[in-house]
Amino acid sequence: MLHDVHNHLQDEGFAPHLERIADCARELGIADMVVNGTCEADWPLVHALAQRYPFVRPSYGLHPWDAGNRSPAWLETLRARLAAEPRAAIGEIGLDRWILESARPDDARLAGLRRAPLAEQTEVFLAQLALATAENRPVTIHCLQAYGQLDELLHAHPVPERGFLLHAYAGPAALIPRFAALGAYFSFNGYFLKDAHAPAHPNPNSMPSPKPKCHLIGDTLAWGARLEAFKRVPLDRLLVETDAPAMPLPTAWRTHKLPPTADGTPLNHPGNLEAAYTALAALRRIPLAELTAQATANFTCLFGP
Ligand SMILES: [Zn+2]
Repeated sequence: MLHDVHNHLQDEGFAPHLERIADCARELGIADMVVNGTCEADWPLVHALAQRYPFVRPSYGLHPWDAGNRSPAWLETLRARLAAEPRAAIGEIGLDRWILESARPDDARLAGLRRAPLAEQTEVFLAQLALATAENRPVTIHCLQAYGQLDELLHAHPVPERGFLLHAYAGPAALIPRFAALGAYFSFNGYFLKDAHAPAHPNPNSMPSPKPKCHLIGDTLAWGARLEAFKRVPLDRLLVETDAPAMPLPTAWRTHKLPPTADGTPLNHPGNLEAAYTALAALRRIPLAELTAQATANFTCLFGP
């Protein structure tokens, strides 16, 4: 049984492929996908998916990229939706300095978005964190280039008693124990495998074949910093995600493919979750079955049965 703790199945690029993805989820034993709405227009789409597919766990939130375009009624709309769905999660919410300081002005993913300054993102983030804390709901946090600020905020404000998810954690390894002490769970994303690289003088006998299989990686490769950080996450806080359609795995690791959208945007298939599990088990040097059982227990602790 696998759990994708973070994706965006409501993305319009998936619309023509939904039935195929659902079949694949059944075949792979993906019992749950936490489907994150990121803006007000997304929320009814996530709700509709939860009605249609039993494996969808709905999650509603205003993403920092979408904070600048929110309507005056956003918080009331979110409150009403949560009141109507007592089992829904909150997310994704968060902080993002990348869009402010590092993103290219012509990045197509940011077209039409007003980029909210960090103070405004913080206000939107804290309002949603307070909602999650008040009702002890699972909450998913996105953070890009703002881990210091996030660390300060999470230590200065109450967090849900059940804990919270730091999705696709890419912060410093040194902060992991501080976040874990507050109740953080950390989800591993297969996109980080792009940091894994072959050794300078590979042993030809241990090298993967031209199209490497997941189980051949392991010890023959040096892992990048984001991967190394995942060796430090306590086992009882480990989770796995795809963030599909975003964060595609390197080609060699992809087990499931979808044609790109009409404008050429690649789509990460949620079925690649299995490869992310396999890679994380290799990274942690534990049997896949052990990781799967642990991730299921962790999922239940955070998101409920
Ligand atoms: Zn996401």
